[in-house]
Amino acid sequence: MRVGDGGTEGKLPDVGTTIFTLMSRRAAELGALNIGQGFPDYPVDPRLAGALAEAVAEGHNQYAPMEGSVALREAIAAKLRTSHRIEVDPLAEITVTCGATEAIYSAIQAVVGHGDEAIVFDPAYDSYDPAIRLAGGRAVHIPLAPPRFRYDWDRVAAAITPRTRLVILNTPLNPACTVARAGDLVALAALLRDRPITLLADEVYEHVIYDGRRHQSALAHAELRAKSFVVYSFGKTLHATGWRTGYCVAPAALTRELRKVHQFNTFSIAAPLQAAIARYLPKHPECWQGLAGFFEAKRDRFLQALTGSGFGAHPAEGSYFQLLDYSAIAPDAGDLEFARRLLEEGGVATIPLSPFYLEPPRLPFVRVCVAKQDATLDEAARRLRAFEDRAAR
Ligand code: GLN
Repeated sequence: MRVGDGGTEGKLPDVGTTIFTLMSRRAAELGALNIGQGFPDYPVDPRLAGALAEAVAEGHNQYAPMEGSVALREAIAAKLRTSHRIEVDPLAEITVTCGATEAIYSAIQAVVGHGDEAIVFDPAYDSYDPAIRLAGGRAVHIPLAPPRFRYDWDRVAAAITPRTRLVILNTPLNPACTVARAGDLVALAALLRDRPITLLADEVYEHVIYDGRRHQSALAHAELRAKSFVVYSFGKTLHATGWRTGYCVAPAALTRELRKVHQFNTFSIAAPLQAAIARYLPKHPECWQGLAGFFEAKRDRFLQALTGSGFGAHPAEGSYFQLLDYSAIAPDAGDLEFARRLLEEGGVATIPLSPFYLEPPRLPFVRVCVAKQDATLDEAARRLRAFEDRAAR
């Protein structure tokens, strides 16, 4: 791709528009039901909306501190004390960012340099690889083995070189809907021991974890915590993805490096949003304590509505999402083709998995988002069944 009149070569010639944007845009054009991109279709808690209106009225309308407002960082530290039983210094170890995506981007720019390598696990969230390349590094992709997407730590050990600077671990894992086991963190810690490798732990779905499983946080693992950027999202936790407010927890030395990038990237995050969350979060711990049950009920409702259909599913272990196996309906279709047909003929937008791979295996899965009103999930299941009936004829 050539950009600009001067014929300048862009830095990401092979990158197009994200699959999330493509599917959402096409769904809007077609008036389809969008259960692809991960965002709720129900309102935020009115008390959170009220806190935002108050913050604006009270004058929280100028630049917030670069690191994040002190009130919000203190509220985050208090929340981490309850949710992870850990002490974090709100001033030195927490940075508020423009969503988790900015935290991920800024952390990568902070530690990956020219010629460095960063290990990612495929299917990998789509922002990791371009962010590594923009830093001048190379992403080393290690596929997780379907159908259960487990880690092969011997393979990771074999992929580590003297140039490895970063490993990115996402749990619960978007888009595979799996979660890391305690043993995974132990194995990872052993691999990183005595090596100059930082961990970037993407834990935005920390509270969306099902069937009594426990979230394995890098923050709760003392050895990993000392070498990790751990990234979270209020968009996910407060059902407000459009607020674009996330944060990164890291030891003071790593936080200093992160902030050097953050200050020239987004500089600081919307002041009234921070004020509103700082006010709401300490008063409403149920907002995060209840998330697992809330989404588990939605996952179960959706799977129940598809029982007996040709769509197969292992119940998601965590995240906003559920994978559907369509191999009984269209055994020969690739996932991009199947998702396109489902959208154009079935009126349902989903997300195929192959865009999350460097070398996509043949995987008969599409990802659906269960962070939707029950009526939306019911209608989606009805359309999926109707699509299957037509496909069978
Ligand atoms: N995190 C969202 C998802 O996985 C997508 C966000 C985006 O479109 N960049 O669906």
